[in-house]
Amino acid sequence: MADLPPLREVIARHGLSASKALGQNFLFDEQLLNRIAAIPGNLSGKAVLEIGPGPGGLTRSLLRAGARVTAIEMDPRCLPALAELEAAYPGQFRVIEGDALKLDHDGLMGEPFAVVANLPYNVGTALLVRWLGGEQWPPQWTSLTLMFQLEVAQRIIAEAGTDPYGRLAVYTQWRSAAKLAMKVNRSAFTPPPKVMSAVVHIEPARMPEAVPARLLERITEAAFGQRRKMLRQSLKGVPGALDALAAVGVDPQRRAETLSVAEYIEIARALAAGRIEG
Ligand code: SAM
Repeated sequence: MADLPPLREVIARHGLSASKALGQNFLFDEQLLNRIAAIPGNLSGKAVLEIGPGPGGLTRSLLRAGARVTAIEMDPRCLPALAELEAAYPGQFRVIEGDALKLDHDGLMGEPFAVVANLPYNVGTALLVRWLGGEQWPPQWTSLTLMFQLEVAQRIIAEAGTDPYGRLAVYTQWRSAAKLAMKVNRSAFTPPPKVMSAVVHIEPARMPEAVPARLLERITEAAFGQRRKMLRQSLKGVPGALDALAAVGVDPQRRAETLSVAEYIEIARALAAGRIEG
């Protein structure tokens, strides 16, 4: 196992003060980082895509777990510190400088891979939506282990009938299994963010047959766009949606947050069938 200097020393030596603009909140606690790296299961020999390694705390844990890590980092200041890790783990680690939102992850990896990331909130959500929205299912990624603000994590795993339940929950859960793997206190980060964080773990599930993702999105967007209104009002603008509700026996007087993910799937399926026939 590589003998590495303490992370704080690496940060001081390379002058890596956390940049607010890049949403940088670093983790130093090795035990905590090891626990996060263990969430996807045994990574020995597996390909892992890490987004935003920063000074490389989480990266170290992934490498120690035996993962073959590809990391995308957009802050050039972090590259010399990451180059030291590349030297310590030859052939096991490569860094790509760039914006993860602009790169083709599947092409870069060229094999099935697990994603692990501690990212700024806005980047994390944008990437999540992209990873979940791919046409190929199951996707090339085998799991997503992602740090979010606790509030966002709760929206991802929310069950029907609860306050945080909305588009993000349906979008995630219609063909994936999502769980809250670990809550992380503000004080674990340097500098500490304003709110609690949590790690979410997502694995692809089977894709329900005959459910076009775009129709499901259209329905949930309309329904949750006016979540306090009855479906008969909020779905008015989606052609065929009210007929689809009737076809699957969902009462149009119900409100968006009372419908389960399975019911949204049924409605999208009925809508698709109606469109094909009509
Ligand atoms: N993984 C490190 C840790 O846990 O200590 C750093 C976490 S810090 C919250 C987020 C990192 O993501 C920063 O290093 C930042 O430069 C990087 N980052 C932000 N936006 C990015 C993007 N679009 N593509 C790649 N990296 C990004």
